[in-house]
Amino acid sequence: MRSEGKWDGKFIAELAGWLGTDGLKFFGDILDKYKTLNVVLPGKPPHPVHMREGMQVRNHMRHLHTEMGHPYEDAHWYDNHWMAAVKECLGIETKCIDCDDTGYTWQLVEGSYKKVNCPACKGG
Ligand SMILES: [Zn+2]
Repeated sequence: MRSEGKWDGKFIAELAGWLGTDGLKFFGDILDKYKTLNVVLPGKPPHPVHMREGMQVRNHMRHLHTEMGHPYEDAHWYDNHWMAAVKECLGIETKCIDCDDTGYTWQLVEGSYKKVNCPACKGG
């Protein structure tokens, strides 16, 4: 969980433990190369990290919230916070409380989720 931009230490420790050395290396390597986790890795077929590894991270964040007695956030919250959570696991603090400093978030607009400039940091 995250409150006013600060991650709960136990939550992050649990998530980092679940990611393990291999998981942290996977995401760390992406950050080193692309400076963000919001990437589609090249290949056939292309590899959207948000939809693949990101989905597993989001599911585990829900699991940890349940274990820690914290109510589920909406799907949206996980979409917007999983990258910052992984970065926190890697010891990289994010400044914006609503995005992973990529400058955008997902919001419900006219019935569907759309990528919009982050309201907190105004798109970086
Ligand atoms: Zn932001």
